[in-house]
Amino acid sequence: GDQDDTTEDDTSVRVALRIRPQLARERIDMCQVCTAVMEHEKQVILGKDKSFTFDHVYDIPSTQEFIYQDCVLKLIDGCFDGYNATVVAYGQTGSGKTYTMGTGFDVSMPEEEIGIIPRAVEHLFRGIEERRQTAIQKNEPPPDFKVNAQFMELYNEEILDLLDATRDVEHKNRKSNAKIHEDAEGGIYVVGITTRMVHTPKEAMQCLEVGALSRSTASTNMNATSSRSHAVFTLHIKQHRLVKEESPVFDGEEGEHGGQGEGTVARSDEALTEFEILTAKFHFVDLAGSERLKRTGATGDRAKEGISINCGLLALGNVISALGDKTKKGSHVPYRDSKLTRLLQDSLGGNSRTLMIACVSPSDRDFMETLNTLKYANRAR
Ligand code: ADP
Ligand code: MG
Repeated sequence: GDQDDTTEDDTSVRVALRIRPQLARERIDMCQVCTAVMEHEKQVILGKDKSFTFDHVYDIPSTQEFIYQDCVLKLIDGCFDGYNATVVAYGQTGSGKTYTMGTGFDVSMPEEEIGIIPRAVEHLFRGIEERRQTAIQKNEPPPDFKVNAQFMELYNEEILDLLDATRDVEHKNRKSNAKIHEDAEGGIYVVGITTRMVHTPKEAMQCLEVGALSRSTASTNMNATSSRSHAVFTLHIKQHRLVKEESPVFDGEEGEHGGQGEGTVARSDEALTEFEILTAKFHFVDLAGSERLKRTGATGDRAKEGISINCGLLALGNVISALGDKTKKGSHVPYRDSKLTRLLQDSLGGNSRTLMIACVSPSDRDFMETLNTLKYANRAR
């Protein structure tokens, strides 16, 4: 049959659930907590009897540091071996997506509140330095790394450049010329938006902060909130390193566009030493709020926004569920149904690793939205 006995580690999509603490407002209004976690079973029970199981379940007291170490860190390690990775935060507005991802980063933040992106950036640059030092100690030529950052927003099926300083935040001319392209090897890249080369964690964090500010300024000015757009922070990692002995001989053409020194042959001691170029891409996605359109009573333009946002979320759900369904292996994965899934196409499935963090409120007044999120996330498994 088509059932294959892949090990658990081969699962390219994992789903984590995070329950945030009650906010002051919810405590003042005396909302009850309607979620209960069975830690060892990785299970959450909503209300009396609605239970769901995930790959990771993070209850109310879970810290930013713990979550990073537990499920994101190994994705960054994979980037050093050329694996693309994606972390997406899903959930209703106010459920903790931005807090969890760290998309709202600012330098004055207390260290324990810092989210996933800044932690990943630190880890990446530490990993680079470690690999360089190890090579130097072994008297080998150190690997060379180039890291680029992009920060964009998907709004109404349009790509907006959050790093473009000239961007018109008054919403008069927010359209960019950004386009999504696919190369011959199936690699997806965006042209027409700012790409910043970053050499230090600080430079990467400046990009994050500038973009976060641009996002919130724009949303205030157009009297909308960032909850209606998807924010995508991307790191491109390009590594020029010695070929490991067990690797096949580099043929000089692998997945590389216009890079220099492909297949360079250099002399180190007496041995001929071959280099390879490895590229990896890490997307951090802070999705639009998943709440139902009808609850906000949207009409006109708002309704139109709602429809296209749902289109991205809907398409993402369909893609992830198609990837997770082993019985459907080899069947059609509907990447082209939205800009979001098109952008993430080469970073979801295949050799890529994906983590979806479903964020929920513990309060009973959010029961229905929490139930919707649990169902969506459950389908993704
Ligand atoms: P979203 O991005 O999903 O709309 P936010 O990340 O903005 O939600 O979170 C809503 C509010 O809850 C913010 O004030 C945020 O600081 C707070 N919050 C979210 N998650 C946590 C958490 N794990 N611990 C403490 N506060 C949190
Ligand atoms: Mg947010």
